[in-house]
Amino acid sequence: MTSRRKFLETLSVTSFAIPILYSPASLFAATTEPYDGPILKVAIMGLGSYGTRVAEAMQSCKRAKLVGVISGTPSKIKKWQSKYNIPEKNCYNYENFDAIKDNPDIDAVYIITPNGLHKEQTIRVAKAGKHVISEKPMGINAQEGQEMVDVCKAANVKLLIGYRMHFEPKTVAVIQMRKDGVFGETKFFQGQSGFTIGDPTQWRLNKELSGGGAMMDIGIYSINGARYMLGEEPVWVTAQETKTDPVKFKEGIDETIQFQMGFPSGAVANCLSTYSMNNLDRFYMTGSKGFVEMQPSTGYGPIEGRTHKGPLTQPHVTHQTLQMDGMAALIFDGVQPIVPVDGEEGVKDMKIIDAIFLAAKTGEKVTL
Ligand code: NDP
Repeated sequence: MTSRRKFLETLSVTSFAIPILYSPASLFAATTEPYDGPILKVAIMGLGSYGTRVAEAMQSCKRAKLVGVISGTPSKIKKWQSKYNIPEKNCYNYENFDAIKDNPDIDAVYIITPNGLHKEQTIRVAKAGKHVISEKPMGINAQEGQEMVDVCKAANVKLLIGYRMHFEPKTVAVIQMRKDGVFGETKFFQGQSGFTIGDPTQWRLNKELSGGGAMMDIGIYSINGARYMLGEEPVWVTAQETKTDPVKFKEGIDETIQFQMGFPSGAVANCLSTYSMNNLDRFYMTGSKGFVEMQPSTGYGPIEGRTHKGPLTQPHVTHQTLQMDGMAALIFDGVQPIVPVDGEEGVKDMKIIDAIFLAAKTGEKVTL
Protein backbone atom coordinates (compact mmCIF):
# COMPACT_ATOMS: atom_id res chain seq x y z
CA MET A 1 0.00 0.00 0.00
CA THR A 2 2.82 2.36 0.88
CA SER A 3 4.29 1.82 -2.55
CA ARG A 4 0.90 2.45 -4.17
CA ARG A 5 0.62 5.70 -2.24
CA LYS A 6 4.15 6.67 -3.25
CA PHE A 7 3.18 5.91 -6.84
CA LEU A 8 0.08 8.13 -6.56
CA GLU A 9 2.07 10.90 -4.89
CA THR A 10 4.67 10.73 -7.64
CA LEU A 11 1.93 10.86 -10.23
CA SER A 12 0.26 13.84 -8.61
CA VAL A 13 3.55 15.75 -8.65
CA THR A 14 4.77 14.78 -12.09
CA SER A 15 1.55 14.64 -14.07
CA PHE A 16 -0.35 17.58 -12.66
CA ALA A 17 -2.12 18.19 -15.97
CA ILE A 18 -3.44 14.63 -16.16
CA PRO A 19 -5.93 13.84 -13.39
CA ILE A 20 -5.56 10.48 -11.69
CA LEU A 21 -8.83 8.65 -12.27
CA TYR A 22 -10.59 5.95 -10.34
CA SER A 23 -11.09 2.87 -12.46
CA PRO A 24 -13.62 0.16 -11.51
CA ALA A 25 -10.66 -2.04 -10.54
CA SER A 26 -9.14 0.59 -8.26
CA LEU A 27 -12.54 1.10 -6.60
CA PHE A 28 -12.45 -2.53 -5.45
CA ALA A 29 -8.79 -2.34 -4.54
CA ALA A 30 -9.63 0.64 -2.35
CA THR A 31 -12.11 -1.46 -0.38
CA THR A 32 -9.91 -4.56 -0.04
CA GLU A 33 -6.34 -3.29 0.30
CA PRO A 34 -4.93 -2.34 3.70
CA TYR A 35 -4.51 1.41 4.16
CA ASP A 36 -2.01 3.29 6.29
CA GLY A 37 -2.41 6.86 4.99
CA PRO A 38 -4.15 9.95 6.37
CA ILE A 39 -7.77 9.75 7.55
CA LEU A 40 -10.33 12.42 6.61
CA LYS A 41 -11.94 13.47 9.90
CA VAL A 42 -15.54 14.41 9.18
CA ALA A 43 -18.32 16.11 11.14
CA ILE A 44 -21.86 15.53 9.87
CA MET A 45 -24.24 18.51 9.96
CA GLY A 46 -27.91 17.49 10.06
CA LEU A 47 -28.58 14.16 11.78
CA GLY A 48 -31.65 13.25 9.73
CA SER A 49 -32.51 10.30 7.58
CA TYR A 50 -29.68 10.59 5.04
CA GLY A 51 -27.13 11.75 7.62
CA THR A 52 -27.89 8.57 9.57
CA ARG A 53 -27.28 6.47 6.45
CA VAL A 54 -23.97 8.20 5.74
CA ALA A 55 -22.82 7.74 9.35
CA GLU A 56 -23.56 4.00 9.19
CA ALA A 57 -21.76 3.66 5.85
CA MET A 58 -18.74 5.54 7.17
CA GLN A 59 -18.18 2.80 9.75
CA SER A 60 -16.77 0.73 6.86
CA CYS A 61 -14.57 3.50 5.46
CA LYS A 62 -10.81 3.18 5.45
CA ARG A 63 -9.86 6.74 4.63
CA ALA A 64 -12.69 8.72 6.28
CA LYS A 65 -13.97 8.74 9.86
CA LEU A 66 -16.96 10.31 11.57
CA VAL A 67 -15.53 12.40 14.42
CA GLY A 68 -18.09 15.14 15.06
CA VAL A 69 -21.69 16.31 14.76
CA ILE A 70 -23.55 19.57 14.19
CA SER A 71 -27.22 19.38 15.06
CA GLY A 72 -30.16 21.39 16.34
CA THR A 73 -31.47 18.42 18.34
CA PRO A 74 -29.59 17.74 21.61
CA SER A 75 -31.16 14.27 22.05
CA LYS A 76 -29.76 13.16 18.68
CA ILE A 77 -26.33 14.46 19.60
CA LYS A 78 -26.37 12.35 22.79
CA LYS A 79 -27.44 9.26 20.85
CA TRP A 80 -24.78 9.72 18.19
CA GLN A 81 -22.11 10.42 20.82
CA SER A 82 -22.65 7.09 22.46
CA LYS A 83 -23.18 5.16 19.23
CA TYR A 84 -20.11 6.56 17.43
CA ASN A 85 -17.91 7.47 20.38
CA ILE A 86 -17.93 11.19 19.60
CA PRO A 87 -16.31 13.40 22.26
CA GLU A 88 -18.19 16.41 23.66
CA LYS A 89 -15.60 18.84 22.22
CA ASN A 90 -16.60 17.76 18.67
CA CYS A 91 -20.34 18.45 19.15
CA TYR A 92 -21.88 21.70 17.90
CA ASN A 93 -25.24 23.28 17.17
CA TYR A 94 -26.24 25.69 14.38
CA GLU A 95 -25.47 28.73 16.52
CA ASN A 96 -21.96 27.86 17.63
CA PHE A 97 -20.46 25.73 14.84
CA ASP A 98 -18.23 28.56 13.52
CA ALA A 99 -15.98 27.53 16.44
CA ILE A 100 -14.88 24.45 14.45
CA LYS A 101 -12.17 26.73 13.10
CA ASP A 102 -10.30 26.13 16.37
CA ASN A 103 -10.87 22.38 16.31
CA PRO A 104 -7.99 20.46 14.70
CA ASP A 105 -9.94 17.19 15.10
CA ILE A 106 -12.22 18.15 12.18
CA ASP A 107 -10.99 18.34 8.56
CA ALA A 108 -14.34 18.51 6.76
CA VAL A 109 -18.04 19.06 7.38
CA TYR A 110 -20.63 17.03 5.47
CA ILE A 111 -23.77 19.21 5.18
CA ILE A 112 -26.88 16.98 5.08
CA THR A 113 -29.60 19.52 5.89
CA PRO A 114 -32.51 20.84 3.79
CA ASN A 115 -31.40 22.27 0.41
CA GLY A 116 -32.28 25.87 1.25
CA LEU A 117 -29.75 25.89 4.11
CA HIS A 118 -26.74 24.51 2.21
CA LYS A 119 -25.43 27.84 0.92
CA GLU A 120 -25.23 29.72 4.23
CA GLN A 121 -23.90 26.65 6.02
CA THR A 122 -21.26 26.09 3.33
CA ILE A 123 -20.09 29.69 3.62
CA ARG A 124 -19.74 29.41 7.40
CA VAL A 125 -17.85 26.10 7.20
CA ALA A 126 -15.52 27.46 4.49
CA LYS A 127 -14.84 30.58 6.55
CA ALA A 128 -13.93 28.29 9.45
CA GLY A 129 -11.25 26.86 7.15
CA LYS A 130 -12.73 23.36 6.78
CA HIS A 131 -13.45 21.40 3.60
CA VAL A 132 -17.13 21.24 2.67
CA ILE A 133 -19.10 18.28 1.39
CA SER A 134 -22.63 19.44 0.55
CA GLU A 135 -25.50 17.18 -0.28
CA LYS A 136 -27.27 17.53 -3.62
CA PRO A 137 -28.77 19.79 -4.78
CA MET A 138 -25.86 22.01 -3.69
CA GLY A 139 -28.22 24.98 -3.27
CA ILE A 140 -31.52 26.13 -4.64
CA ASN A 141 -30.28 27.78 -7.85
CA ALA A 142 -27.12 28.27 -9.92
CA GLN A 143 -26.38 31.67 -8.42
CA GLU A 144 -26.22 30.16 -4.95
CA GLY A 145 -24.05 27.34 -6.27
CA GLN A 146 -21.60 29.73 -7.87
CA GLU A 147 -21.38 31.76 -4.68
CA MET A 148 -20.55 28.57 -2.76
CA VAL A 149 -17.80 27.73 -5.30
CA ASP A 150 -16.34 31.24 -5.07
CA VAL A 151 -16.36 31.38 -1.27
CA CYS A 152 -14.69 27.95 -0.96
CA LYS A 153 -12.06 28.93 -3.51
CA ALA A 154 -11.31 32.16 -1.64
CA ALA A 155 -11.07 30.23 1.65
CA ASN A 156 -8.78 27.68 -0.02
CA VAL A 157 -10.96 24.73 0.98
CA LYS A 158 -12.48 22.01 -1.19
CA LEU A 159 -16.17 22.02 -2.04
CA LEU A 160 -17.48 18.57 -2.97
CA ILE A 161 -21.07 17.54 -3.70
CA GLY A 162 -22.57 14.24 -2.53
CA TYR A 163 -22.76 12.65 -5.99
CA ARG A 164 -22.50 9.07 -4.72
CA MET A 165 -23.24 7.52 -8.15
CA HIS A 166 -19.88 8.82 -9.42
CA PHE A 167 -18.25 6.15 -7.22
CA GLU A 168 -20.78 3.34 -7.80
CA PRO A 169 -19.04 0.41 -9.53
CA LYS A 170 -21.64 -0.45 -12.22
CA THR A 171 -22.11 3.23 -13.05
CA VAL A 172 -18.35 3.74 -13.26
CA ALA A 173 -18.07 0.67 -15.51
CA VAL A 174 -20.76 1.97 -17.88
CA ILE A 175 -19.12 5.41 -18.07
CA GLN A 176 -15.81 3.70 -18.86
CA MET A 177 -17.49 1.60 -21.59
CA ARG A 178 -18.94 4.76 -23.11
CA LYS A 179 -15.51 6.41 -23.02
CA ASP A 180 -14.02 3.31 -24.67
CA GLY A 181 -16.55 3.59 -27.50
CA VAL A 182 -18.42 0.38 -26.67
CA PHE A 183 -21.78 2.06 -27.38
CA GLY A 184 -20.46 3.88 -30.46
CA GLU A 185 -21.83 7.39 -30.94
CA THR A 186 -24.28 8.00 -28.12
CA LYS A 187 -27.66 9.06 -29.46
CA PHE A 188 -30.40 8.93 -26.85
CA PHE A 189 -30.79 8.87 -23.08
CA GLN A 190 -33.94 8.24 -21.13
CA GLY A 191 -34.04 8.94 -17.39
CA GLN A 192 -36.95 8.31 -15.07
CA SER A 193 -36.58 9.45 -11.48
CA GLY A 194 -39.38 9.56 -8.96
CA PHE A 195 -41.18 8.33 -5.88
CA THR A 196 -44.47 9.04 -4.16
CA ILE A 197 -43.85 11.61 -1.45
CA GLY A 198 -45.73 11.26 1.85
CA ASP A 199 -46.17 13.77 4.71
CA PRO A 200 -47.39 17.07 3.20
CA THR A 201 -45.82 19.07 6.05
CA GLN A 202 -42.21 17.95 5.43
CA TRP A 203 -39.49 20.43 4.37
CA ARG A 204 -39.28 18.84 0.89
CA LEU A 205 -42.66 20.46 0.14
CA ASN A 206 -41.70 23.85 1.62
CA LYS A 207 -40.27 26.07 -1.11
CA GLU A 208 -38.05 28.10 1.20
CA LEU A 209 -36.29 24.99 2.50
CA SER A 210 -36.38 22.84 -0.64
CA GLY A 211 -36.08 25.33 -3.52
CA GLY A 212 -38.53 23.26 -5.55
CA GLY A 213 -40.21 19.89 -5.62
CA ALA A 214 -39.29 16.59 -7.24
CA MET A 215 -36.78 18.18 -9.64
CA MET A 216 -34.44 19.41 -6.89
CA ASP A 217 -34.74 16.18 -4.95
CA ILE A 218 -34.90 13.31 -7.42
CA GLY A 219 -35.13 14.73 -10.97
CA ILE A 220 -31.55 15.93 -10.49
CA TYR A 221 -30.47 12.26 -10.81
CA SER A 222 -31.77 12.13 -14.38
CA ILE A 223 -30.06 15.44 -15.19
CA ASN A 224 -26.74 14.37 -13.72
CA GLY A 225 -27.17 10.88 -15.20
CA ALA A 226 -27.84 12.21 -18.72
CA ARG A 227 -24.60 14.18 -18.47
CA TYR A 228 -22.41 11.32 -17.24
CA MET A 229 -24.02 8.67 -19.43
CA LEU A 230 -23.78 10.74 -22.64
CA GLY A 231 -20.53 12.48 -21.66
CA GLU A 232 -21.71 15.87 -22.94
CA GLU A 233 -23.23 19.08 -21.62
CA PRO A 234 -26.72 20.02 -22.85
CA VAL A 235 -27.16 23.14 -24.99
CA TRP A 236 -30.94 23.43 -24.75
CA VAL A 237 -33.87 22.22 -22.66
CA THR A 238 -37.64 22.03 -23.05
CA ALA A 239 -40.00 21.06 -20.23
CA GLN A 240 -43.65 20.39 -19.44
CA GLU A 241 -45.14 20.39 -15.94
CA THR A 242 -48.13 18.41 -14.70
CA LYS A 243 -49.77 19.06 -11.33
CA THR A 244 -52.57 16.79 -10.09
CA ASP A 245 -52.59 17.97 -6.45
CA PRO A 246 -52.12 21.76 -6.12
CA VAL A 247 -52.89 21.63 -2.40
CA LYS A 248 -50.00 19.31 -1.61
CA PHE A 249 -47.73 20.71 -4.35
CA LYS A 250 -48.01 24.46 -3.86
CA GLU A 251 -46.68 27.26 -6.06
CA GLY A 252 -42.99 26.62 -6.75
CA ILE A 253 -43.14 22.94 -5.73
CA ASP A 254 -43.10 20.82 -8.89
CA GLU A 255 -44.93 17.51 -8.72
CA THR A 256 -44.12 16.09 -12.17
CA ILE A 257 -41.97 17.56 -14.93
CA GLN A 258 -41.12 15.91 -18.23
CA PHE A 259 -38.05 17.46 -19.80
CA GLN A 260 -35.89 17.11 -22.83
CA MET A 261 -32.25 18.09 -23.32
CA GLY A 262 -30.30 18.52 -26.54
CA PHE A 263 -26.54 17.96 -26.73
CA PRO A 264 -23.90 19.32 -29.12
CA SER A 265 -23.43 15.95 -30.89
CA GLY A 266 -27.14 15.84 -31.70
CA ALA A 267 -27.86 13.35 -28.91
CA VAL A 268 -31.11 13.97 -27.03
CA ALA A 269 -32.41 13.07 -23.58
CA ASN A 270 -36.01 12.60 -22.54
CA CYS A 271 -36.61 12.49 -18.79
CA LEU A 272 -39.32 12.35 -16.15
CA SER A 273 -39.09 13.73 -12.62
CA THR A 274 -41.95 13.09 -10.21
CA TYR A 275 -43.18 13.00 -6.63
CA SER A 276 -46.29 11.05 -7.64
CA MET A 277 -45.13 7.67 -8.96
CA ASN A 278 -43.32 5.00 -7.02
CA ASN A 279 -40.33 2.92 -8.11
CA LEU A 280 -39.34 5.20 -10.95
CA ASP A 281 -35.61 4.64 -11.15
CA ARG A 282 -34.49 3.77 -14.65
CA PHE A 283 -31.79 4.85 -17.12
CA TYR A 284 -31.59 3.76 -20.74
CA MET A 285 -29.03 4.89 -23.28
CA THR A 286 -28.55 3.83 -26.85
CA GLY A 287 -25.73 4.53 -29.27
CA SER A 288 -24.75 3.54 -32.81
CA LYS A 289 -23.20 0.26 -31.59
CA GLY A 290 -25.23 -0.77 -28.56
CA PHE A 291 -27.24 0.10 -25.48
CA VAL A 292 -27.30 0.06 -21.70
CA GLU A 293 -30.28 -0.12 -19.38
CA MET A 294 -30.11 0.24 -15.61
CA GLN A 295 -32.98 -0.34 -13.20
CA PRO A 296 -32.62 0.56 -10.42
CA SER A 297 -30.18 3.15 -11.69
CA THR A 298 -29.60 5.56 -8.80
CA GLY A 299 -31.24 4.05 -5.69
CA TYR A 300 -29.07 2.85 -2.81
CA GLY A 301 -28.55 -0.40 -4.65
CA PRO A 302 -27.75 -2.94 -5.66
CA ILE A 303 -27.88 -1.22 -9.05
CA GLU A 304 -28.93 -3.67 -11.77
CA GLY A 305 -28.35 -3.40 -15.46
CA ARG A 306 -27.29 -4.86 -18.76
CA THR A 307 -25.76 -3.76 -22.00
CA HIS A 308 -25.85 -5.29 -25.48
CA LYS A 309 -22.76 -7.22 -24.31
CA GLY A 310 -24.53 -8.79 -21.31
CA PRO A 311 -25.36 -8.10 -17.67
CA LEU A 312 -23.41 -5.66 -15.49
CA THR A 313 -21.70 -7.89 -12.92
CA GLN A 314 -19.67 -5.52 -10.73
CA PRO A 315 -20.40 -6.31 -7.06
CA HIS A 316 -22.46 -3.98 -4.86
CA VAL A 317 -20.56 -1.90 -2.32
CA THR A 318 -22.40 0.57 -0.07
CA HIS A 319 -22.39 3.77 -2.12
CA GLN A 320 -21.69 6.15 0.72
CA THR A 321 -18.70 4.10 1.91
CA LEU A 322 -17.12 4.31 -1.54
CA GLN A 323 -18.04 7.97 -1.82
CA MET A 324 -16.43 8.99 1.46
CA ASP A 325 -13.27 6.93 0.85
CA GLY A 326 -13.19 8.39 -2.67
CA MET A 327 -13.57 11.93 -1.39
CA ALA A 328 -10.73 11.38 1.09
CA ALA A 329 -8.56 10.10 -1.77
CA LEU A 330 -9.49 13.20 -3.75
CA ILE A 331 -8.66 15.58 -0.90
CA PHE A 332 -5.41 13.89 0.16
CA ASP A 333 -4.04 12.44 -3.08
CA GLY A 334 -5.83 14.36 -5.84
CA VAL A 335 -7.43 11.13 -7.10
CA GLN A 336 -10.33 12.29 -9.29
CA PRO A 337 -13.45 10.14 -9.68
CA ILE A 338 -14.37 9.21 -13.25
CA VAL A 339 -16.81 12.16 -13.27
CA PRO A 340 -16.08 15.19 -11.04
CA VAL A 341 -17.84 15.72 -7.71
CA ASP A 342 -16.68 19.29 -7.18
CA GLY A 343 -18.69 22.48 -6.77
CA GLU A 344 -18.41 23.30 -10.48
CA GLU A 345 -20.11 19.98 -11.28
CA GLY A 346 -22.90 20.96 -8.88
CA VAL A 347 -23.33 24.36 -10.57
CA LYS A 348 -23.76 22.64 -13.96
CA ASP A 349 -26.77 20.72 -12.62
CA MET A 350 -28.18 23.85 -10.95
CA LYS A 351 -27.99 25.80 -14.25
CA ILE A 352 -29.94 23.05 -15.98
CA ILE A 353 -32.56 22.99 -13.20
CA ASP A 354 -32.95 26.79 -13.51
CA ALA A 355 -33.42 26.37 -17.28
CA ILE A 356 -35.94 23.53 -16.85
CA PHE A 357 -38.05 25.63 -14.45
CA LEU A 358 -37.96 28.52 -16.93
CA ALA A 359 -38.85 26.25 -19.86
CA ALA A 360 -41.75 24.68 -17.91
CA LYS A 361 -43.06 28.13 -16.97
CA THR A 362 -42.78 29.76 -20.40
CA GLY A 363 -43.28 26.76 -22.66
CA GLU A 364 -40.22 27.97 -24.57
CA LYS A 365 -37.07 26.12 -25.56
CA VAL A 366 -34.33 27.50 -23.28
CA THR A 367 -30.76 27.71 -24.55
CA LEU A 368 -27.95 27.00 -22.10
P1 NDP B 1 -34.19 14.84 6.78
O1 NDP B 1 -35.38 15.71 6.96
O2 NDP B 1 -34.32 13.41 7.13
O3 NDP B 1 -32.99 15.42 7.67
C1 NDP B 1 -32.57 16.75 7.57
C2 NDP B 1 -31.92 17.16 8.90
O4 NDP B 1 -31.47 18.51 8.76
C3 NDP B 1 -32.89 17.20 10.08
O5 NDP B 1 -33.04 15.95 10.70
C4 NDP B 1 -32.22 18.19 11.00
O6 NDP B 1 -31.19 17.54 11.72
C5 NDP B 1 -31.53 19.15 10.03
N1 NDP B 1 -32.24 20.42 9.91
C6 NDP B 1 -31.69 21.64 10.16
N2 NDP B 1 -32.59 22.60 9.97
C7 NDP B 1 -33.73 22.02 9.56
C8 NDP B 1 -35.02 22.52 9.22
N3 NDP B 1 -35.29 23.84 9.23
N4 NDP B 1 -35.97 21.63 8.86
C9 NDP B 1 -35.70 20.33 8.82
N5 NDP B 1 -34.49 19.79 9.14
C10 NDP B 1 -33.52 20.64 9.52
O7 NDP B 1 -33.69 15.06 5.28
P2 NDP B 1 -32.73 14.09 4.46
O8 NDP B 1 -31.67 13.58 5.36
O9 NDP B 1 -33.52 13.12 3.69
O10 NDP B 1 -32.11 15.14 3.40
C11 NDP B 1 -31.08 16.04 3.75
C12 NDP B 1 -30.26 16.42 2.49
O11 NDP B 1 -29.68 15.26 1.96
C13 NDP B 1 -31.09 17.05 1.37
O12 NDP B 1 -30.32 18.05 0.74
C14 NDP B 1 -31.34 15.90 0.42
O13 NDP B 1 -31.51 16.30 -0.93
C15 NDP B 1 -30.05 15.10 0.58
N6 NDP B 1 -30.23 13.67 0.31
C16 NDP B 1 -29.33 13.05 -0.51
C17 NDP B 1 -29.45 11.72 -0.78
C18 NDP B 1 -28.44 11.04 -1.65
O14 NDP B 1 -28.65 9.87 -1.97
N7 NDP B 1 -27.36 11.69 -2.00
C19 NDP B 1 -30.56 10.93 -0.25
C20 NDP B 1 -31.42 11.65 0.64
C21 NDP B 1 -31.26 12.98 0.89
P3 NDP B 1 -30.83 17.95 13.23
O15 NDP B 1 -32.06 17.62 14.02
O16 NDP B 1 -29.68 17.12 13.55
O17 NDP B 1 -30.53 19.42 13.23
